Amino acid sequence: MSVIDLRSDTVTQPSTGMRDAMASAPLGDDVYGEDPTVNKLESELASRLGFAQALFVPTGTMSNLLALMAHCGRGDEYIVGQQAHTYKYEGGGAAVLGSIQPQPLEVQADGSLDLQQVVAAIKPDDFHFARTRLLALENTMQGKVLPVEYLGQASRLTREHGLALHLDGARLYNAAVKLGVDASEIARHFDSVSVCLSKGLGAPVGSVLCGTVELIGKARRLRKMVGGGMRQAG
Ligand SMILES: *Cc1c(COP(=O)(O)O)cnc(C)c1O
Repeated sequence: MSVIDLRSDTVTQPSTGMRDAMASAPLGDDVYGEDPTVNKLESELASRLGFAQALFVPTGTMSNLLALMAHCGRGDEYIVGQQAHTYKYEGGGAAVLGSIQPQPLEVQADGSLDLQQVVAAIKPDDFHFARTRLLALENTMQGKVLPVEYLGQASRLTREHGLALHLDGARLYNAAVKLGVDASEIARHFDSVSVCLSKGLGAPVGSVLCGTVELIGKARRLRKMVGGGMRQAG
């Protein structure tokens, strides 16, 4: 009897094609920037999603952590869904390792954050308050897909208020399929996007963080710091 395990898309197994690709991948030391397979993955994903650069990391948790720490410094704040992965399921890493204060907001039934509530949560420039620097969204959000129009509104809002906008796009490609758009149509609204390769996309591990040259430069330093610089990772 063949059993289909529906607990999670994280229990999917690499296909024969993926295993063959892994066995024959050209390798080098990625900490030296010399792994051709990693370099190809990073440049391909960056260009497909419309970003200047990308960084391969072991997990989605690390990818989000590096993004939050690259956008925010000690004493800064990020606005995030109460049920979002970065806030609820990543061990509080942004606070523990980044000294970044989360400002959680209740997620609405459709998976979005109420943008009025987001605006109301942005702290004025006053020494009593943490500095609000970033809004983090998730798409898909617990299986719900945020529409492209909503992402545009969130992007305008963050630009008006001088915030950066990060996407936990662990399942970006699921959202793109559901919306019937290219993944870049979702990604283009964000300053950084994290994508999981291990959620039903066939890879056994790994995530990719996309952003500007400056942001990915910071993330690369942080990746080394938290022990995520892998050698023959390709
Ligand atoms: C799985 C997941 C992550 C983290 O990925 P790991 O590789 O398990 O660390 C981040 N965000 C969302 C929405 C996820 O589903």
